[in-house]
Amino acid sequence: MVEETQRDDMTWYRCEKCGLMFDSEEDATQHEGACDAEDPSYLQ
Ligand SMILES: [Zn+2]
Repeated sequence: MVEETQRDDMTWYRCEKCGLMFDSEEDATQHEGACDAEDPSYLQ
């Protein structure tokens, strides 16, 4: 899931897998779909 964060009067979207931040929810969602970082919760 992409995590929404408020910072400097802007909304950022963070990849929960690797922590990368994006200023666009679309970019973040797209990245997360292709993210190779390990996500322990995925296995549950
Ligand atoms: Zn990522």
